[in-house]
Amino acid sequence: MRSDYCGVLRSADIDRIVTLCGWVDRRRDHGGVIFIDLRDREGIVQVVFDPDAAEHFELADRVRSEYVLKVTGRVRARAAEALNPNMATGEVEVYGTELEILNSAETVPFQLDEHIEVGEDVRLKYRYLDLRRNEMQHNLRFRSRLTTAIRNYLDTHEFLDIETPILTRATPEGARDYLVPSRTHEGKFFALPQSPQLFKQLLMVSGFDRYYQIAKCFRDEDLRADRQPEFTQIDIETSFLGEEEIMSITEGMVRTLFKTLKGVELGTFPRITHYQAMLRYGSDKPDLRIPLEMVEIKDLMTEVEFKVFSGPARDPKGRVAAIRVPGGCDRLTRKQLDDYGKFVGIYGAKGLAYIKVNARADLENGLQSPIVKFLPVETRAAILDRLQAQDGDLIFFGADKARIVSEALGALRCKLGQDLNLYTSEWAPLWVVAFPMFEENEDGSLTALHHPFTAPSCTPEELEQNPLGALSRAYDMVLNGTELGGGSLRIHDQVMQQVVFRTLGISEAEQREKFGFLLDALKYGAPPHGGLAFGLDRLVMLMTGSDSIRDVIAFPKTQSAACVMTDAPGTVDARQLRELNIRLRQKEESIR
Ligand code: ASP
Repeated sequence: MRSDYCGVLRSADIDRIVTLCGWVDRRRDHGGVIFIDLRDREGIVQVVFDPDAAEHFELADRVRSEYVLKVTGRVRARAAEALNPNMATGEVEVYGTELEILNSAETVPFQLDEHIEVGEDVRLKYRYLDLRRNEMQHNLRFRSRLTTAIRNYLDTHEFLDIETPILTRATPEGARDYLVPSRTHEGKFFALPQSPQLFKQLLMVSGFDRYYQIAKCFRDEDLRADRQPEFTQIDIETSFLGEEEIMSITEGMVRTLFKTLKGVELGTFPRITHYQAMLRYGSDKPDLRIPLEMVEIKDLMTEVEFKVFSGPARDPKGRVAAIRVPGGCDRLTRKQLDDYGKFVGIYGAKGLAYIKVNARADLENGLQSPIVKFLPVETRAAILDRLQAQDGDLIFFGADKARIVSEALGALRCKLGQDLNLYTSEWAPLWVVAFPMFEENEDGSLTALHHPFTAPSCTPEELEQNPLGALSRAYDMVLNGTELGGGSLRIHDQVMQQVVFRTLGISEAEQREKFGFLLDALKYGAPPHGGLAFGLDRLVMLMTGSDSIRDVIAFPKTQSAACVMTDAPGTVDARQLRELNIRLRQKEESIR
């Protein structure tokens, strides 16, 4: 139908006769001449119809926003006063000679160029219209270019693209499963994969050596701002490579993507252990664009009379830490300090103590703070020394259970970075390594920090003796405070795998029932293997500078895991349920 895309026409096309197809972005009537901004996926070009075009002019007069048109005309230079430097096609216009209305359109429910004022619900209900907007077109095109670049990179490095099942058994990644009832096996269910983890490991047992897949994953969890119930991973697994090699190949991939798609040189990614990350940044995904660090002062507080500090300082599970904000005295208002006090409350902190260092040398009167009177002068001096405080600095304190202090001050650090615009670079990638194998639940039971197939750095005996002290051979890639991806070397030894299951409290019978196929496979010559998975949606979000993950997914779910456009999830009719041998429990109200 068409000879050219609208958005690509330039001065070089002047005098060409072109046929364009697209949507009416805007139509203006300038005293007998009609201007139509015609839009397609490549952009917008101005088309002009004057009365010389006879019946086509009449038609042009009838078109309205979002009508679909086919236009033929000659590309011509715009008059000097009509040049539009803000438009890629702003030096030219198309002098229309023929017009065909391919379809009309009702008035659209929202202006396509003013989405900011439009609620997201409306945008998602009419997603097919929302996707016509420039920003969304750009994001999805970027995403497509990105996945092509990923495939190219992995293909060059001899990875094979292999699909794994969507209808499967539970694949534990720590979330709830989406279940699919089986019609042919009464009372039984498939689970949608939380990740292709076990299948990719089995592919290594099969000898494929390097696998990748751009894979849909499903996790039924309470949604947070950057989560979706179904999302996409760049899933990777390799055999016979150690951590170093796996990190090097995948770091190379991300570096290449940034270079080719954004012209950004990321350089070599620094590495930090999980322990150091928690200690210095209170987070296992630290945002290294922010130069603030947490400093441990637990040892300085054990003997002070101030119980708020000495209590956690004496508690083996407690933590007392501080963050120094250089020049913070002048940069933060009283109101902000109060707000930060409330902010850390979200993370369970009971308050936020601070000291304003007005005059560092004057330990009696130079420190302004509600708490300073509770601290002996020597302790004040020791704190200021440890934090290398200078006049004008503001110091925040956290004292509580270690988890609360790390989370609260870690989040405060990021908030300060944002509020005071402390960023020292645009991109800050890093690897976090040497994670603990397990974390302890309130009831004393253990959970795998990554997943139960992650190899520990110790022997099975050591693991059993001291599971909480064991480290794993896992690694996470972090960018600007967001976890981009994570993975590990895997357990390829059946005995070790059973020790880990046992440590997690999974009985022999349950091991067989749920993971028998894996335990069997490990007996038949499983090679040493490892890999990782990147969150594709998050990567696109970061690279396009989008605020929300939903802005880089064509048809995302809402925060409550629903699709307002198709109205999914929906009810099903009684016959379907009967076929599936499912009877819905009656709601309590109707029973009463
Ligand atoms: N399957 C893991 C995940 O989804 C990634 C990996 O270990 O490769 O987080």
